Amino acid sequence: MRRRDMRLFATVSAVLLLFPTPVGRLLAEPTNAPNLASGKIVDLTWPFDEKTIYWPTSPSGFELKSISHGRTPGGWFYASNAFCTPEHGGTHLDAPIHFAEKGRTADEIPVRQLIAPAAVIDARRQSAADADYRLTAEDVRDWEKRHGRLAAGTIVLLRTGWGARWPDRKAYLGDDTPGDATRLHFPSYGREAAELLVRERRVGALGVDTASIDFGASKDFIVHQIANGADVPGLENVAHLEELPESGAWVIALPMKIAGGSGGPLRIVALLP
Ligand SMILES: [Zn+2]
Repeated sequence: MRRRDMRLFATVSAVLLLFPTPVGRLLAEPTNAPNLASGKIVDLTWPFDEKTIYWPTSPSGFELKSISHGRTPGGWFYASNAFCTPEHGGTHLDAPIHFAEKGRTADEIPVRQLIAPAAVIDARRQSAADADYRLTAEDVRDWEKRHGRLAAGTIVLLRTGWGARWPDRKAYLGDDTPGDATRLHFPSYGREAAELLVRERRVGALGVDTASIDFGASKDFIVHQIANGADVPGLENVAHLEELPESGAWVIALPMKIAGGSGGPLRIVALLP
């Protein structure tokens, strides 16, 4: 650094110290919202069809029934379907009431909470070595060492690499015995990571590219209890996380507005800078 630059640096630093806001905050935290008009948009949603993966104990999957498809007596074409689906299957949202009696229902979650900066925490290496891998608090802190402390309201997306297995039910869930959810193996969040993210960092939502925010072998669904208990929704079976940067993207994760719903089909997209 040259003498003149040195003096300038010292002056700016002193000014920032003396006036931490608003000038200091503006310089320290430039707004990082991607431009909606020019940013690249990535669809993070799996299609709903006969291949869509549901929890093994789900009584049914996605059903689409044709009501009309063809030429009408008036001469024009007309198509219309009816669909039926359990709330929890495919790319979907877990509303807080899913695991918390007093938690919000799907329609009660403020949309502001579902439109936020995304932090993508990569655990592909650990998950490839151990299908029962659970994200640790240390993994979260490693992300923060590279990208800074997670801001309140961030939508966290855990990237395990499991999306590459979709829609192979056995490879994706670890077991494909109908009606049996006791032998599942896939990675997800661990308890300490969930406590750090939800209670200390106060993130807005926990998302993952596997079937659950708890790992497949979980017996107590502790991550669901921690997140939903703090009115933090889960985003499950999120697609194409390999296309996202670890930091810098924004996510729009809007579920079907089912009044009183415990969750529901989700259309989730990322906006890249
Ligand atoms: Zn769910």
